[in-house]
Amino acid sequence: MSTLVVIVAAGRGTRAGSGVPKQWRNLDGRPVLAHTVAAFAGLPLILVIHPEDRPQAEALFPGTELVEGGASRAASVRNALVAAQGRGFARVLIHDGARPFVTPALTARLVAALDTATGAAPALPVTDALWHGKGGLVGGTRSREGLFRAQTPQAFRFEPILAAHLAHGADAADDVEVALAAGLDVAIVEGEEENLKLTFPGDFDRGDKLLRNRRMDLRMGNGYDVHAFTTGDHVWLCGVKIPHSRGLLGHSDADVGMHALTDAIYGALAAGDIGRHFPPSDPQWKGAASHAFLSHAIGLARDQGFELSNCDVTLVCERPKIGPHAPQMRAELARILGIEAGRVSVKATTSERLGFTGREEGIAALATALLVQR
Ligand code: MG
Repeated sequence: MSTLVVIVAAGRGTRAGSGVPKQWRNLDGRPVLAHTVAAFAGLPLILVIHPEDRPQAEALFPGTELVEGGASRAASVRNALVAAQGRGFARVLIHDGARPFVTPALTARLVAALDTATGAAPALPVTDALWHGKGGLVGGTRSREGLFRAQTPQAFRFEPILAAHLAHGADAADDVEVALAAGLDVAIVEGEEENLKLTFPGDFDRGDKLLRNRRMDLRMGNGYDVHAFTTGDHVWLCGVKIPHSRGLLGHSDADVGMHALTDAIYGALAAGDIGRHFPPSDPQWKGAASHAFLSHAIGLARDQGFELSNCDVTLVCERPKIGPHAPQMRAELARILGIEAGRVSVKATTSERLGFTGREEGIAALATALLVQR
């Protein structure tokens, strides 16, 4: 027994601005309606459109059944239900084209609710206080007890809602209103806060943010650095000064761990490496504390809309012993990066006395950084 989806997109609503009906306005580079239709992928679907929109609907949704809307929302839904009559649909989900964030989980809850109810519709309880206004002033308050904010899709057993629509002459705010007029029971199913109806320009900004979050734009980078030992009595590693029988040779403070991490962040941004941002030929970086480099990299990430999710630094050396200093290194890197220490890993390994690190000619460092779009 199959479930039909009817998406109502015949309205001319232009409160969202730009003069284009809201369901045809772009959200993240494609029309709102394209997101909405994609949310029901795999289910039989009828798209109710305005006659003027037929060319673009046919171009955007090849193979999708299109039905032209009527003079009102209720008439549009009725046209779709009549077109689907007699084709064996047991249930129908009727959805607004301007709600592109509907999830499969919500759809599944609604369909399940139809096992015991003729209709089921998503809603959220009203949590804000309610007022009525009078000439720009608060005229009084209203109880929010028992009040809900209605959403779509609204789900019904097919034959009863078809009969309800055929009997209902006037327009209606939604299909629940039509169902109630016909005496059908409609169960309230918990809706979703993100199931926004895009109506005003600000809704599109919210919608863009939601989509960005859902897409989880992740950027990963790695970094590698080596500095040779020279004479000295300390080394700087991950922002911590460690007494040692030798120092590290470098133009700056030669903090090999911080350099690798800085390069990992630049790498995640595809923004080159430390040498590009702080040329060694420039005398102003001679002896510089490397936190300037790391601060620059994380600042660049944030300027481009990313946050550092976590990072991992591995130091490769026989000596000095890193373990005792690792907590302080993590704390110092976390301080410079402005994230909690739990997102910063510093660990070490020897190279079993093999190679240049094994011969204690220098220290190598590897780092990985994961950036997430904010
Ligand atoms: Mg370096």
